[in-house]
Amino acid sequence: MNGKDARAPGAENQGAPALLEEATAAEPLERVPSRAERATARRYEALFRGLVQHAADVVMILESDGWVRFCGPSARALLGYAPEEIEGSDFFSLLGDGFSTEQRAMFSSNLVAEHPTFTAGFSIRRQDGVELPVEAAASNYLRNPDIAGVIMTLRDVTRQKKAEERALFYEYFDPLTSLPNRESFMRDVERNITIAANRGRVFGVMAIGLDKFKHVNDMYGTKTGDEVLKCAAEALRNSFRNDDVLSRYRGDKYFALFPDIKSQDHIKEIIAKARAAFADPFRIGLGQELRISASMGVAFFPNDGKDAAELARNAETALYMAKESGRDGYRLFDARLNGEILERQRIESDLGQAIGERRFEPFFQAKVDRSGFIVGAEALVRWRLATGEIKGPASFIDVAERSGNIDRIGSMVILKTCELAAGWSAVGLPEIPISINLSPRQFGQESLVEDITAIIESTGVDPRRLEFEITESGIMTNERESIRKLLELKDLGAAISIDDFGTGYSSFSKLKDYPVDTVKMDKSFIDPLPSDRKAAIIASAIVDLAHTLSFTVVAEGVENIEQMSFLDTIFCDQYQGYLFSKPVPEQEFRRLLSEGKALLPRSA
Ligand code: C2E
Ligand code: CA
Ligand code: CA
Repeated sequence: MNGKDARAPGAENQGAPALLEEATAAEPLERVPSRAERATARRYEALFRGLVQHAADVVMILESDGWVRFCGPSARALLGYAPEEIEGSDFFSLLGDGFSTEQRAMFSSNLVAEHPTFTAGFSIRRQDGVELPVEAAASNYLRNPDIAGVIMTLRDVTRQKKAEERALFYEYFDPLTSLPNRESFMRDVERNITIAANRGRVFGVMAIGLDKFKHVNDMYGTKTGDEVLKCAAEALRNSFRNDDVLSRYRGDKYFALFPDIKSQDHIKEIIAKARAAFADPFRIGLGQELRISASMGVAFFPNDGKDAAELARNAETALYMAKESGRDGYRLFDARLNGEILERQRIESDLGQAIGERRFEPFFQAKVDRSGFIVGAEALVRWRLATGEIKGPASFIDVAERSGNIDRIGSMVILKTCELAAGWSAVGLPEIPISINLSPRQFGQESLVEDITAIIESTGVDPRRLEFEITESGIMTNERESIRKLLELKDLGAAISIDDFGTGYSSFSKLKDYPVDTVKMDKSFIDPLPSDRKAAIIASAIVDLAHTLSFTVVAEGVENIEQMSFLDTIFCDQYQGYLFSKPVPEQEFRRLLSEGKALLPRSA
């Protein structure tokens, strides 16, 4: 649109005769227009009137002092005013509250500029009081010296604004729980670091992790999982104060910030509040209730970190430690934790590689009868490092159990043990029973019996030679399922032995319901023998009761003759310990087996 075209229809349009007169008067009239020219002008007038009338944007003509000379008809739809109500009023009186004095000054200076062209975003108060976000585009098409003003269009940008807000929401909030997200939380932490550093304050960062959330997802589906996440968010939000920040960090992890920690009691209080959020079961959907617990870790500024990343990391470390020491607990960060965790992470990653390289093998420790002859052996895993050094399970079995690596290490041990045992029979060595340890996690594996069956088949080992050692706690974790598995193992022909007996919470009354063949009396009962009278009485009671239930009793960790002599007097059935043999590599055990000699020093 050129200046001339805009001028004529804009001026003649919409009952603004004054403007028309002025506009036409502004042009020096050299001659009277011809009839054809007037017809063309009328056609243009109709065309441009139509355009202004149908424009969704409000078209206005403003004079340099902000006075509205002309207002297009879309003002009615957009602003709720009739154009006449706006015409003749001060444009600035229409503006919403957000219009600052600076903006006004800028706007005014634009209006009086020689060639005003500008765009601006602000809001206009509609007739009903609602503020409407608009974008104004203005320029001076009226080359009329009497009207020092501009043509301005106002466009409703509600939709764009909403979209922007939504984008902003997604950038800083978690859509599921509507809590601030990780980015937003980290900014809050940074902000609080500045404040706390200036005022010498302490603030706390808490990591909160739902316990066994994966289990919820697996059991009930992700929809229920999402509901749980929402419920937890709400419960936490309700139990914290308004100026405590709560965010969803990722997955089942929430982070909270407590701005001003005043005392030890205050710390206890925030932990109690976080725990209180999980005191009641969550109501999920229709009538379904789920009880879920959470663990927490807390780090404090300035002691536990100088920036947001370090504080968050340390709070997470503390959370991790809380989870390690059982569910439903909490830990405050302690710099020493870092050392432990780093060491554990190192072992964990080394384990991964060692599994790939199949660096695990069983050593064998003899079990002997009362005369010292080998009547069985226990397979005990060893990690052969690339340097040739041998590592015992004490240094890695816990990490493997927690990280889940035990599954693969365990099946490596089972396979290797079965291969070796089958090999011994093939060369005519005595077919003694071989025990294999199953950790609680291994025992909990769904496919355990199936895997063992496959190994038995592939190695050709006689399953009646196999014995599995499981601790009481390993059985009690999921008792019914455990008993089913024990029965299946027995169906294969294998025997069952209770490891570390006496250290768990189980009792003989429980034990009688389990399909068990042997109990291994824990080393802690053997150590104080024979001088400790109480220990002697307990050991003797264990043997008696076990015999009543027709279990075989093995004493673990027998280290000296005195212990053995005492155990003889209470009729213990078998012994295992350094007194007879340490766990030894396969070749060495094979040699012991082939010699067929008693391992007992006193009978030698
Ligand atoms: P455990 O099943 O109670 O095994 C007995 C442990 O006591 C073995 O330690 C053995 O070397 C040690 N020991 C035997 N006699 C004596 C003694 O007279 N004095 C002393 N001080 N110690 C004795 P090891 O081999 O270090 O194994 C430790 C634990 O690691 C085992 O305890 C068992 O729970 C676990 N483990 C070993 N091998 C495996 C495996 O293949 N799979 C699984 N899941 N766990 C295993
Ligand atoms: Ca054992
Ligand atoms: Ca044991």
